[in-house]
Amino acid sequence: MQEKGNISIHTENIFPVIKKFLYSDNEIFLRELVSNAVDATQKIKRLSSLGQYSGEVGDTTIEVSFDEKAKTITISDKGIGMTAEEVKKYINQIAFSGATEFMEKFKEANDANEIIGRFGLGFYSAFMVADKVEIQTLSYQEGAEPAKWVCDGSTSYEISEGTRTQRGTDVILHINSDSEEFLNKSKLQEILDKYCRFLPVPIKFGTKTESVPDGEDEEGKPKYKSIEVDNIINNTNPAWTKAPSELKDEDYLAFYRELYPFAEEPLFWIHLNVDYPFNLTGILYFPKIKNEFDIQRNKIKLFSRQVFITDEVKDIVPEFLMLLHGVIDSPDIPLNVSRSFLQADSNVKRISNYITKKVADKLNDLFKSDRKAYESKWKDLGLFIKYGMVSDDKFAEKAVDFALLNNVDGEFFTLKEYAEKVKDIQKDKDGNVVYLYATDVAKQDSFIEAAKAKGYDVLQLDSPIDNHFVSYLEQKTEKTQLKRVDSDVVDKLIQKEEQVKLSLSDEEVTKVKSIFDKAISKDTMKVEVEALAEDELPVTVTMDEFMRRMKDMAQQGGGMSWYGNMPDSYKVSVNGNHPLIKRILNDENEEEREQLAKQAFDLALLSRGLLSGADLTKFVKRSVNLI
Ligand code: ADP
Repeated sequence: MQEKGNISIHTENIFPVIKKFLYSDNEIFLRELVSNAVDATQKIKRLSSLGQYSGEVGDTTIEVSFDEKAKTITISDKGIGMTAEEVKKYINQIAFSGATEFMEKFKEANDANEIIGRFGLGFYSAFMVADKVEIQTLSYQEGAEPAKWVCDGSTSYEISEGTRTQRGTDVILHINSDSEEFLNKSKLQEILDKYCRFLPVPIKFGTKTESVPDGEDEEGKPKYKSIEVDNIINNTNPAWTKAPSELKDEDYLAFYRELYPFAEEPLFWIHLNVDYPFNLTGILYFPKIKNEFDIQRNKIKLFSRQVFITDEVKDIVPEFLMLLHGVIDSPDIPLNVSRSFLQADSNVKRISNYITKKVADKLNDLFKSDRKAYESKWKDLGLFIKYGMVSDDKFAEKAVDFALLNNVDGEFFTLKEYAEKVKDIQKDKDGNVVYLYATDVAKQDSFIEAAKAKGYDVLQLDSPIDNHFVSYLEQKTEKTQLKRVDSDVVDKLIQKEEQVKLSLSDEEVTKVKSIFDKAISKDTMKVEVEALAEDELPVTVTMDEFMRRMKDMAQQGGGMSWYGNMPDSYKVSVNGNHPLIKRILNDENEEEREQLAKQAFDLALLSRGLLSGADLTKFVKRSVNLI
């Protein structure tokens, strides 16, 4: 038996096109061929369990091997195999329904995945790295004859009698000269690790040496010897494929280490398991985020029936959950995960919503069942939750129940609890409640103390997301404003009905202002004489809340970039009721007046950590003189 023919596709030179076009992704040939081998293996198992195959299924290990001299890579399975007829039907008619469409579409496609997945070209990805491909196969069917198929990358093929004596298929790739990098043990190992690590059928790649016990020596100590064993590259039964009830905490942690050997232990995890209206399993871990570097390193991995697809899970996982780690497996996400495809796919949106809901439910459970433990994790959790609330309304709806605010004394409150706590004492004369917050507890200490002395509470909002979260809270909480504790003197942060009276005449105010204007003489410092309590500081330097927020946003790259270029501008509040200011006012000696004003101003800068360089040196000298 020998037969020649043409692969039924309309254009003559499709292979050079595939080869060139897909070049950047060419390592996926191995994923495609091993996946086919897995499919063929699972088919024989299914036939056997359905009683449609009465032979012995036996060992079904798939073997990947290479021969550097012969320049071949071989993928062998013990699956269902194919008859010559089936080879003609399945292999020769590339994407038999869509060949023409393929030729039209490939021009628009963005990556190899898109073409291969959409047009069922899995097998043909072999031609990205091979200039000749050979199949040796024997069908499981009784009396089947072995078949051989060879194609040299043109559109003609040859089918003849094969040599296989055992059920299954060998695909032999004669690697082309551009792809010889694949004839390398560590290269192939790397690709197998990436795509095939959790496939459901054992995959052997060469051998490895292992040390095993070998009796005892004369002194009775255990002896070991090295033996060669099959190098099985995959875990066929990864944690996410098991029922949650089968797994203990240790199992989840062990699987986490398997995925990310160098990462710290996660905070907790969520086992995803749905089969309606779409199919999805997976485990998502909440990591401890130590620094920015950690954020991008360990990404969520996307699988389709245990075949690794990608770790670019944008669109499938809501943006704010991209910081999570773990795996998602869904046969409803086809192999061709390209952006354009995902956006068009309705399953994807539903999957994303489902994940959001699951995460919210889990967080709610944790909060309800053990609030103390939840609070202790808030520093890490807060980042996700706040980001989620700011960016996803659905999530925010749920998260209002378990989002926390913590104050500078380390107490935690839900949003409701906090509103209740401060609603009376922090209400201003117009009926607005003002939440005070610190972004740097050490630097803003003098302001925090001043606020506390008034009986006010000060929140700690110091994570990178808090900028946005502050605006979010203001938008969502009625009649509520947030002000950083150093954005004004304490009496002005929350303006009350009863005002402190200024004990200076208008004339005296003008004089004090001119003394300070002269002593400070900086454009960025705007002097104002104000009526504050006698026991407040004589001089306080503050930056307006609105101005500072705009600058912070600009610095983080969010809009309004011209604010970022503006010089810092501060208000210098001179406390007209303070004895020191009165003393300066009544001092006859002009030089001494200026010295005292400078000193009071420098102290205000110092308490904000704003005094440095030459100004600090002058301050120290002046202080010595004054003493
Ligand atoms: P897909 O896997 O998307 O159907 P492929 O081009 O990878 O597309 O394969 C086409 C068909 O060839 C498969 O559906 C299967 O019927 C057959 N096939 C490929 N590889 C094997 C194999 N190792 N054993 C048995 N059949 C195979």
